[in-house]
Amino acid sequence: MSIYNTPADAANTAVRAFLTKIGEYFLGRSFNTGSGSSKNDWIKIKDEVFNGMCAYCGKSDVKLQMDHLIMFNREQFGLHHPGNIVPACKICNKRIENSDNQYVSWEDQLSYICEQNNDTNNFLIRWKKIKYHMNESEYKYPTLSPEEYKMLKLITNNLYNGVKKEFEESINLYKELDESFTRK
Ligand SMILES: [Zn+2]
Repeated sequence: MSIYNTPADAANTAVRAFLTKIGEYFLGRSFNTGSGSSKNDWIKIKDEVFNGMCAYCGKSDVKLQMDHLIMFNREQFGLHHPGNIVPACKICNKRIENSDNQYVSWEDQLSYICEQNNDTNNFLIRWKKIKYHMNESEYKYPTLSPEEYKMLKLITNNLYNGVKKEFEESINLYKELDESFTRK
């Protein structure tokens, strides 16, 4: 929980809740990775599928966090779905940005991390492992049509802007009412 919450934080939380629900819609069940069988899915992906190693740098002697390959935000609108999550160390879980301040794809992130670590020999092995997890394993990510992607993008941005606007209107409403009735 952050100490200082902005309208953008509220809007981002709404976007993540939406992408979680749509992920569950495609999965056909709930996917609360905090407990129960969904937590076991995450543990299996982390410890068995990826052998307890960071999917990007291959380190195993580090604490592993959940990384959404297609980012779980209004830029990339990745779903919260087992086929979209991999273990990553804290460093690799921080997605780099390109020159336009846009977060890069997981493939560019992987390429960057391998170069940084002088480890380009392992790029293809790790890339294949992630691709298999995403596209062919029991956890595979849903195949979305271009129309479905367009809809996700549109609705995600609509939700983000809507929550931000509601939030700002609520603040203004409070101030207006306070001035009219309480503080005159
Ligand atoms: Zn790493």
